[in-house]
Amino acid sequence: MEKFPWWTDAQVKLADEVESFIDEIRPEAERAWYNQEYPRNIMEEAAKRGFMAVDLPKKYGGTEHGLTGACIVCETFNRVPSLGISYLVTMLGGNHQLHLYGTEEQRAKWMPMMAKGQLAGVCITEPFVGSDAAATATTAVKEGDHYVINGKKRFITNAGVAERYMVYARTSEDPNDRKKYKHLSAFIVTKGMPGFTLEKINDLIGIGYTPNGALSLDDVEVPLENMVGKVGDGWIAMMSGLNYERTLGASMLVGMQRECISYPVWYMERRVQFGALTSERQTNQFKMANIIAKLKLARLMLYHTAHIIDSGEEGATESAISKSYASDTLFESSAEAIQLIGGDGLTKFYPVEWIMRDAKVHQITMGTNEIMRSIIYRAGLSEIKEDIKVVHKRVIDDELGVPISTVRSGSKSQIDEDKLLKLLANDYRANPGLHMSRADIKEDFDVEDGKLDDLLLSLEGEGLVDLYKDRKGRISLVKATYPALQKANPLEYYRWFPAWYKEEDKF
Ligand SMILES: Cc1cc2nc3c(=O)[nH]c(=O)nc-3n(C[C@H](O)[C@H](O)[C@H](O)COP(=O)(O)OP(=O)(O)OC[C@H]3O[C@@H](n4cnc5c(N)ncnc54)[C@H](O)[C@@H]3O)c2cc1C
Repeated sequence: MEKFPWWTDAQVKLADEVESFIDEIRPEAERAWYNQEYPRNIMEEAAKRGFMAVDLPKKYGGTEHGLTGACIVCETFNRVPSLGISYLVTMLGGNHQLHLYGTEEQRAKWMPMMAKGQLAGVCITEPFVGSDAAATATTAVKEGDHYVINGKKRFITNAGVAERYMVYARTSEDPNDRKKYKHLSAFIVTKGMPGFTLEKINDLIGIGYTPNGALSLDDVEVPLENMVGKVGDGWIAMMSGLNYERTLGASMLVGMQRECISYPVWYMERRVQFGALTSERQTNQFKMANIIAKLKLARLMLYHTAHIIDSGEEGATESAISKSYASDTLFESSAEAIQLIGGDGLTKFYPVEWIMRDAKVHQITMGTNEIMRSIIYRAGLSEIKEDIKVVHKRVIDDELGVPISTVRSGSKSQIDEDKLLKLLANDYRANPGLHMSRADIKEDFDVEDGKLDDLLLSLEGEGLVDLYKDRKGRISLVKATYPALQKANPLEYYRWFPAWYKEEDKF
């Protein structure tokens, strides 16, 4: 496995250990897959070797390799079918949430079991709750020394095989709590609690024979001490868990991307067509080059994300980029990997077809890639807002007659109708298709919002401006109408032609 310079010596060593573990168990993993079995023995052996404990504190049996360590394990596990996703959800079933929000008693109780490899699941999704996780309908009502949980969860990975489930439920119906995202709480629910039953196992396109299914919670009495965090902390626990999950999920995806190189290269170096190896065809080399480039970029982003989360950052934007980029590129790369092999690539005898099926799954799991893009747009833009700020004003240069970025003078004058129309007309020359924002106008005029509104509404009444209002009905943008442009300046003011344009063609 290619190591990164910021990995610790212990993480480098872990990478070598887990690689040799996967080489060792690959035959058994493939056999389990052909037999349509969940690879329970391998997961148990993985726990014995300490791979389930990599992101746990030493005092609870862990090895403290951080999320980076968990990614190293998860990446390597997913070089074979079924293992990576089961590892992933086991790591998510409370590990990170207990780190951040658990009490010392809770950590002391659950973490040693996690270190020993107790399988886990995460229960967010419900029949009527998918991407909109805040709409969770499962309820938890406090009664004496326990909560009573009722509801249904679906698409739960490790359903049935897991002993421990991180369940998110609604603990408040107060609209104010809902508005502040304080309406959910997180609970550890364990297999065997009366009323907690397995409802269905899905037969899916991918994820091998790691079970995925629906669970029913019917009057399940969960002790108070199983609540992780305080009442109302469910949403933040879920979100921080999801950033962790998406990063770990991306590692699973790059593990599969590596396999999209392994077997196709091995195959092409043995396949002769038209008297030459298929690996010698430049079109095939270019396809492989693209797969390599995507793998390298996905790995770089994911281990950068793991590193910043390990350093205490939330990493919401980075984990959304890691997950969506790794799954989209995996889908492309796995299709190309099959193409490189040809017909054999479509058979189960060469281990690439399962990767394409898994890749499709992961464009949807852990938050769909559309939801990832919403996060990247919203959070990503806000994080870099200072870096992308347009600090200059676009002003028509007297000599060139074209918009040139100009340092803002900072001086402001008193506003009146004529001056405002002149400003709007001037802006029309620089940005003919754009409105001016309230902030743009206030850079030139010393005017209070109320007075500006009055003026704009009066100009609107005269048909001299068009106003654009935001969702709350506030005037946010304004542009001059054609009559206003005519009123503000003669026609000549707006004309401009490049030097090469012939005089005789102007009219
Ligand atoms: C194999 C597998 C394993 C899973 N494991 C787990 C698990 O362990 N635990 C768990 O809790 N859940 C799990 N899930 C559920 C998974 O997280 C959800 O399937 C996923 O969040 C999407 O929800 P949905 O399927 O209901 O789609 P919907 O939310 O109904 O979305 C349908 C489509 O509409 C788009 N869409 C919806 N809202 C918007 C929006 N606002 N903007 C743009 N596009 C939008 C989506 O991107 C998608 O393309 C798993 C799912 C699968 C398939």
